[in-house]
Amino acid sequence: MRIVLLGPPGAGKGTQAVMLAAANKIPHISTGEMLRQAVQEGSALGKQVKAVLDRGDLVSDEVMIALLRERMSKQDCAPGFLLDGFPRTLPQAQALDRMLKELSKELTHVIEIAVPERVLIDRIKSRGASGSGRSDDTEEVASKRLKVFWELTAPVIAYYREAKRLIEVDGLGTIEEVASRIHAVLS
Ligand code: AMP
Repeated sequence: MRIVLLGPPGAGKGTQAVMLAAANKIPHISTGEMLRQAVQEGSALGKQVKAVLDRGDLVSDEVMIALLRERMSKQDCAPGFLLDGFPRTLPQAQALDRMLKELSKELTHVIEIAVPERVLIDRIKSRGASGSGRSDDTEEVASKRLKVFWELTAPVIAYYREAKRLIEVDGLGTIEEVASRIHAVLS
């Protein structure tokens, strides 16, 4: 399976991604997690992106596409993968299509976890308050990340929808409810 999981910040994407990847025995590729780790390690990439993450902006397409290309070339991705947080922009979605085409492969499932906007800020704030440890889980940065999502990532959802590749899953309810909806569309 080659899955892309899409959804706004606060939709519960990360939680669902971890469960889904484990259940299907495929690597969970979270670009946000890769960047946070780079920041923590103090690598050259980490130094380059720290301020961008703290502001809630997006890292450049060029950097992200190179990062994903390298990650996807690893052996563990041969049987499949689950992408969480990529693609975030139209150029990234197009680059992903090209990358897979070069390998004569395609995405098997593009899933959107849909949550109404009014629910999202509260969810992100409570995640920050409960000690997610993420420096970008504050109200100010959360609203910035949502704004960036509507501007730059919503077109990615439209791109897959127009190509009739999008599967929309209702993201309201408990973690287990959402997980079982995702399970249902995959089987
Ligand atoms: P996430 O954990 O997916 O919410 O990502 C956290 C932060 O990492 C985002 O707010 C961006 O600053 C950055 N980031 C993660 N994935 C991408 C991506 N595909 N393109 C650009 N920036 C990204």
